[in-house]
Amino acid sequence: MMQFERLTVGPLDVNCYIVWDDETKEALIIDPGAEPDRILDTVRRLGVKVEMIVNTHGHIDHIGANKEVKEALGCPLLMHEDDIFLIDDECGVHVAQLIGASDSPKPDKTISDGEELRLGDTVLEVIHTPGHTPGGICLLCDGHLFTGDTLFAGGLGRTDLPGGSYEQLLNSIRTRLLTLPDETVVLPGHAYGPPKSTIGNEKATNPFLS
Ligand SMILES: [Zn+2]
Ligand SMILES: [Zn+2]
Repeated sequence: MMQFERLTVGPLDVNCYIVWDDETKEALIIDPGAEPDRILDTVRRLGVKVEMIVNTHGHIDHIGANKEVKEALGCPLLMHEDDIFLIDDECGVHVAQLIGASDSPKPDKTISDGEELRLGDTVLEVIHTPGHTPGGICLLCDGHLFTGDTLFAGGLGRTDLPGGSYEQLLNSIRTRLLTLPDETVVLPGHAYGPPKSTIGNEKATNPFLS
C-alpha cells in the first residue's frame, strides 16, 4: 500500500511529498523544492529507500533542492521532456540565486503520459497536464492525485509564466482530472490553501471550474 508524508518547504510553501510502498519501503520524492537537509532527515527518519526524484514541473520552487537530494541519495531524476527548457530559463536561474536555490541537474530520464512508476506493488501513473507549464504532470496512486501546480483546493495554477496557457490548463483539468472518480484525493503542490481536497469537491465548489 502507498504511504506518503508531506513537507512544506521554501519561501513559496511548496509541498514536497515522500511517497513509499509500506512493504518494500521503496520510495520516491516529489518536488524537492528547497530545504534539502529537512527532506533528507525525513527520509532517514522514515527508513525508506529512495529510488527516484520526480518533478511535477520545472519551476525553480519545485526543483531547487534536486541537486543536493540527488547527490545525497544517488538516485535518478525524472521530469517531462517539455519542461527541461525551464531548467535553463534565465529568469528561473535569477530567482534561484535570490532565494538560495541550486541549479537543478538535467533529468536522467524523461517521463511521459501513461507511464507507470513502480515502488514494489505500488504504482504511480503519470498524467500529462500541460497548461501551467508545457511539461506539467500529475501523479495518480491508490486514489490519491499529486497535482503539482495544475490544480489546488479551490484554485488553478497560474498561466502567465513562460509556456503557460489558460485554455490548455482548463482542458487538461477537465479531460484528465475531473474524469477521475469523485472520491479521488487531491494533494496540491503548494500549501497556500487547504492541504487536500477531492475531485468531487473541486467539481462542485472550485470557482474556476463551474
Ligand atoms: Zn509552478
Ligand atoms: Zn509552484
